[in-house]
Formats: sequence, structure tokens, C-alpha cells
Amino acid sequence: LPRKEGIRLKRSLLIKPMMNEYYPTVTHGDGIYLFDNTGKKYIDGCSGAVTASIGHTNPEIIAAMYEQANKVSFVYRSQFTSEPAEELANKLNSLLNAKEDYWSFFVNSGSEAVETAMKIAIQHWQEKGNYRKNKILSRWISYHGITIGALSLSGHVKRRERFVHILEDYPVVSPVYCYRCPFNQKYPDCQLSCANDLETAIERAGADQIAAFIAEPIVGAAGGAITPPDGYYQKIREICDRHHILFIADEVMTGLGRTGKMFGLDHWGVRADIMALGKGVSAGYTPIAAALASEKVMEPILNGSNSIMSGHTLSANPQSTATALAVINFIEKSKLVENVQENGEYLLQKLQALAANSQIIGDVRGKGLMIGIEFVSDVKTKQPFSSGVQITKKIVDQARDKGLLVYPASAGKEGAQGDAVIISPPFIITKQEIDDLVAVLKETI
Ligand code: PMP
Repeated sequence: LPRKEGIRLKRSLLIKPMMNEYYPTVTHGDGIYLFDNTGKKYIDGCSGAVTASIGHTNPEIIAAMYEQANKVSFVYRSQFTSEPAEELANKLNSLLNAKEDYWSFFVNSGSEAVETAMKIAIQHWQEKGNYRKNKILSRWISYHGITIGALSLSGHVKRRERFVHILEDYPVVSPVYCYRCPFNQKYPDCQLSCANDLETAIERAGADQIAAFIAEPIVGAAGGAITPPDGYYQKIREICDRHHILFIADEVMTGLGRTGKMFGLDHWGVRADIMALGKGVSAGYTPIAAALASEKVMEPILNGSNSIMSGHTLSANPQSTATALAVINFIEKSKLVENVQENGEYLLQKLQALAANSQIIGDVRGKGLMIGIEFVSDVKTKQPFSSGVQITKKIVDQARDKGLLVYPASAGKEGAQGDAVIISPPFIITKQEIDDLVAVLKETI
């Protein structure tokens, strides 16, 4: 039941993630702010789910959406293509600025983008006559989506536990998590044991059975912006190449400028063979996501069956693709990635200063405007909060009550892997607004 009286006029039959909780009813948004039906104002300190990257109700995007709606909103992908869909595919390819072209396949959610990436990887090997390479490797501590295939790849206890009996049993690779190194080592002396663990996993499962390895460039929902050390992805790329395994980058959260580069992997100068994009592609203005595959991956498919055995009714519809194009053009025109870099550093410094004076902030990490904060009961020993404290939930709820939205990043039930939030405001945030955000967070903590 709602904690506040008089908000709900009639019984709502909407299924909410947690039915017993109070959810404010949003009425409108404006830039980095959201407003509910009691008139309360919120700083959108996490762009919803690290999604609304250019802020709310941007007039240029609304105009582009209206213009497309006046032409045509929907055509079926097996009957027509459309100018915005073709233009968006070319735009994404040009943003990648890679040696080879990347082809786009549009879907409606990040989970579907990951599923499509998995299928493209498996189909790639099939079209080369290899029907044994069917497994996809992933890391523990990761989130790749909620559908059964994508969830099978996700190292996320809370989301898996109810369905674990029907998930695909794919092999897992060690997490990359310097703050709590699974090998009890320190960078750089560790010589990247976590990356080397990919090789061990490949040898254990047999490279002849593995189609691909998937990873989020910076771990998001499952860990709170856990950022790999330098050299990690270069090593991952080298191991994948040596064992003839495709590398899939799940850039659903990190893609399209969020980390201060257009794509997360750009920080390490590495290209994946297949990419999953979502969230920021249309910044939440419409549902759209994409799987991108390199020329190398596409070649046997184009020369073979010449079709991708995937797709959804709404895939590549003109309304969504036109909206995504407008969003990407706005990001480029307004030089928002540069803003993410500059203001991301400012935010990081502010949060580090907050951590220096806090009894419960163990780690502050991330890149650009994707900053994770991990809470601990003892900063010296890194001891997590004991079971039942639910520190993340308390912080998220109390920050919201004070008018600030932050994103819970918790893969476990509690304790390590359970106690982090992500601060990821829209790219248009100003330094003054960052000061306001940090002030509310400080009060909350
Ligand atoms: N991959 C990553 C890295 C994500 O962060 C998410 C969403 N949090 C997904 C996949 C799934 O995307 P969606 O919720 O749009 O299905």
C-alpha cells in the first residue's frame, strides 16, 4: 500500500516490481528533473536506469519524433526498410570509426540485443560449417538482461535464483573486481589474473565448443561501475583471437557517450566483434536497442544463408530509429561526450571527497558519468554490512524521499555484491547541478 495517503484515487492493476512499495506517480520531466503528482521535484541522478542520457523533454527530439510520426511510425521489417533505419545503421558504423564496417540489427531492449548478439555469434560459426561452437562464456558479477538467454549469461544472484533450473548452464569466468580481487592480488603485480582466467575457462570447456565471450566494458547493474584495470581488455582480445572465439561487448549501459567516450571499450582502444547497444541509443525517448556485428562476423552469413534468424515485430521501425538518430545527432552537435568527460571528472572528485569523510563509503569508481559507490560497514577492513541492513535500499529510498534518484547496483542479496549505487545523471548536467546532487547524497549518507 502507498505510504502516502490520498495519492491513488482508484485501485491500479499495474504490476510493479515490488508490489508492497510506494512508487511516486511521475507527471512530467524537464532536463535533469522529474516531477510527481504531489508536485515534488527530483534530480534524476541516475538517468532512470542509466538511460535518459540527454535529459527529459528535449524539444529537438520531440520535434523529430513528431515529424516522423507525421510520415509513418511503423512498417514491418520483412516488408519494408526505411530511411531512418538505414541512416541509423550507417551512423552507428561511423561512430565506431573502425577498420571494418559494422552492420546493425535493431531490436527493442538491451536483453534482446544480447540475445541477438548470442545468435549472430552462433550462426557465424554454423555458416562456416562448425555446429559445435554453441556456448557463450561470461563473467560472474555481470548483468546482460532478463530474458532466459541473457539471464543465463548474467552473474547476478538475485535475478537468477528463481529461474536457475531453466537457465542455460554456460561456463563462467572470474569477475574483474580490483576492490575485492577474487585472487587476493594487487594490480599490476597480479599480471591480470582475472583476464588469464578466461584462458583457463576456455581450456576447461574446450575452445571447439565456445562461440563467444561476452563482457560489459564497465560492470553496471550487477556491481556498480566496476572498472577493469588498464591492459585487461587488450589481454581479453588477444586470448579470444588466439582461441578463435568471438568477443561480444555488452555496451548496453556504457555505449553512446556514458563513460566519456562514444563506446566503453574506446578507453582501452579495443574493438569487439559483436556489440549490444540499448539504453542510451534513444536515451529513453523510445524503446530501441541494437546488435552490431563486424564485417568479419557477417561475411560467412552474407555469403551463406544471407539472413539473420532473429527479429521482433517492432524491430527497426521508423519511429524508433528516427528518434535514436535525433538523439545521437543531438549528442554530437552539443558536444555532450566532452561534457561527460569534464563533468564526470568533477563528479568523481566530489564523490571521492565525500568518501574521504565517510564511515561507510568503501570505494568510488567508474568513468565519465557512470560512477559507482560501494558501501561497507568498515572502510579499513572492507567488511560488508551484515545481512538485513539493506544499506543500498535505504540509501536509494531516502535519497528519493529527499528528491534525488540514484540507481541500485546489487547482484547479491546483501553484503559484497549487494551494496553499491550508480550515480549517472544526464550528460547535460552542469557543475552547479552536480553540487546540488552531491549535497543531497551527502545528507542521505
Ligand atoms: N546489458 C546491460 C549491460 C544492462 O545494463 C542492461 C540493463 N540494465 C541490459 C543488458 C538489459 O537491458 P534491458 O533492460 O533494456 O533489457
